[in-house]
Amino acid sequence: TQVYLNGNFMAPDQARISPLDRGFLFADGVYEVIPAYNGVLFRFDEHLQRLERSLAEIGIHNPHDPAQWRSLCDSLVAHNGGGNLSVYLQITRGAAQKRDHAFPVPPVTPTVFMMTSPVAVPAADSPDTAQGSLAITLDDIRWARCDIKSISLLPNSLLRQQAVEAGAAEAILLRDGFVTEGSASNVFIVRNGTIVTPPKCHAILGGITRDLVVELCVAEGLPVAEQEISESQLRQAEEIWVTSSTREIVPIIQLNNSPVGSGQPGPVWKTVARHYVNFKRRLCGL
Ligand code: PLP
Repeated sequence: TQVYLNGNFMAPDQARISPLDRGFLFADGVYEVIPAYNGVLFRFDEHLQRLERSLAEIGIHNPHDPAQWRSLCDSLVAHNGGGNLSVYLQITRGAAQKRDHAFPVPPVTPTVFMMTSPVAVPAADSPDTAQGSLAITLDDIRWARCDIKSISLLPNSLLRQQAVEAGAAEAILLRDGFVTEGSASNVFIVRNGTIVTPPKCHAILGGITRDLVVELCVAEGLPVAEQEISESQLRQAEEIWVTSSTREIVPIIQLNNSPVGSGQPGPVWKTVARHYVNFKRRLCGL
């Protein structure tokens, strides 16, 4: 395997980053995770737009233009054998001379790191045999700018760990009695036959998978609404799904140890999962 660091491809154990890097000291950076299927980057432009937005929101100059990003990511995928994998890329504000909360003046060169990971075959790839996953609800303890894809993921880690210790795959987060998102995913429910997901705002990350699911539902004429979901609506949902780039659309069959709907992956999920997989296969030539 090869990783990328500041202009060079290398073995992971050859990569060296200064302890003064602000990513290390302050989690001062942003990231993206972009899946590739059959060696083809999925929804690359959308991921890149979100990266540009995250960088702009925290005032880091984008070190590459879109064509350069595309070629770096394609090279990294090729260096790692193509096929199905995800590209992780992170940009930090770089290594300043001293530790100071305020940004270095003049700015230092941002650190760019990229690596790949294998992707597991998601549930949506086989809608008829999918098992479904368990989730628990937890209080959303994160900050007020979750729309920025920040590498500061301690709250997300603590929340996911609580879910894992409870035997669940994901924590669904509640703020002031309403669903925000999962610890590393967006949330959908089916309520009276309508597919509902919370509207984009500063409290959630605008998921690329979320947006594609909404887009596919609209294109297929399925009833979909971007609306707040209360805790009681979540508990009474006919179906619950969580979405992310690496896990695609995961049906949640138990919430806090109670069955969701029939306790099996639901019919609306199956329909949407089929549309998602067809879209992916067409786009990536699978
Ligand atoms: N929300 C959070 C907090 C995430 O970390 C993620 C992805 O890991 C998502 C939502 C889903 O976003 P995407 O579909 O772009 O992967």
